[in-house]
Amino acid sequence: MESHSPSNENLLRRHRAVLPPWVPLFYQNPLEIVEGRGRRVTDSDGNDYLDFYSGISTNILGYNVPELREALETQLRTGVVHTSTFYLIRAQIEVAERIAALSGIPDAMVFFTCSGSEAVETALLLATHYRQSQQIIALRYAYHGRTFGGLSSTGDRSWQSQGLSPLRVAFARSGERKHGGMEAFDDSQYVRACVEDLEELINTATPQGTAAMIVEPVQGIAGAIPPAPGQLAAYQEVCKQNDILMISDEVQTGWGRTGRYWGYQWYGIEPDILTFAKGVGNGLTMGGVVARKDIMSAYDAQSISSFGGNPLSTAAAHATLDYIDAHDLPARAGRTGALLLEGLRQELKDEPWVCEVRGMGLLQAVEYTHPGTTRPAPEMATDIQEHCRERGLLVGSGGTFHNCVRIMPPLTLDEQEAREGIAIIAEATRRARQG
Ligand code: PMP
Repeated sequence: MESHSPSNENLLRRHRAVLPPWVPLFYQNPLEIVEGRGRRVTDSDGNDYLDFYSGISTNILGYNVPELREALETQLRTGVVHTSTFYLIRAQIEVAERIAALSGIPDAMVFFTCSGSEAVETALLLATHYRQSQQIIALRYAYHGRTFGGLSSTGDRSWQSQGLSPLRVAFARSGERKHGGMEAFDDSQYVRACVEDLEELINTATPQGTAAMIVEPVQGIAGAIPPAPGQLAAYQEVCKQNDILMISDEVQTGWGRTGRYWGYQWYGIEPDILTFAKGVGNGLTMGGVVARKDIMSAYDAQSISSFGGNPLSTAAAHATLDYIDAHDLPARAGRTGALLLEGLRQELKDEPWVCEVRGMGLLQAVEYTHPGTTRPAPEMATDIQEHCRERGLLVGSGGTFHNCVRIMPPLTLDEQEAREGIAIIAEATRRARQG
């Protein structure tokens, strides 16, 4: 067994030697999490933390959940972790039935993948086949994964290295209006301008027959950016008029994260295709696509994902869905999220470097800019993240300009823990301001 030096120096050196330089690590002294229970984790030096990051929004139930452990142990006792989609998998069929019914998509079918990226890739594959067009419309600031199609529709330069693409992608405006000359617009002016811009994009910058528009109900990686009120509904109107499918990428917003089961349910839109991953396995590899039967059937060759929906992952998904239902986690995330957002806004309202505290449900961010400007202050976000760690709280740092503290606790967070986190973030912001 390796012994862990306080700064994990040896492990870090080995990480840097063998893992790619473009896989970023948080913290000056990166952290190794070795244990977890509830919403708390322990590192290899024995330090405890309240977790406001949940493995990038993935551990939605938290850690060491007995119901999940039992479901996994039961499956492991059969001796079968994986079979193949060439055989019937009872739990896969049952989970597909549940997700199809939950999706709100009529006549829905489900395909299971191993990641959010693979789910998005499948959604794009289906839409391009269905419409026989490789033209996609995505939103600026979007993140849709690391495959060719996902990267092509990603509008966030910090995750985009080059422009090689199997698709044609045009970018419409997202809910971010601090940049690009639209800061002064109110909600309705902004939505009107965005819709006109989208119509112009369709009429002038894309060939006839765009396959789909892909949207995140809240732009997670960009720093919890919601659309302007009415923006996605207005976009869907334009899409309907132009026979463009709507893909809701729910990889980050699904399973109650925003306070409703799916993020799209806030906006009165009706996606034709929905992607999911992250929380549904509470850490087990699980993702997928839901689409109407006619769209799902448009792909007219064979296709499989070897691991997709295997018996262990689907056992985890079954148990996670049961837990979400039994504890009404979407409603709970809505309530705790409102308390957290309100508390952070209250505590940070006089902080000159805080530009905005935003989010929906338990998908939130604090954005830091130079006082009185929209100039991003990434060093504040990383300082605050370090200060939070010293005081026993894990938060993310990120956003398109790296200037956001990202907050996505497990959906089981309780009010006491929310208050604990608010106090630490407020104190960390004061300390970072004082230098
Ligand atoms: N879509 C969205 C909206 C995401 O947030 C992510 C991951 N952060 C992905 C797709 C890609 O998921 P994965 O990392 O599981 O491939």
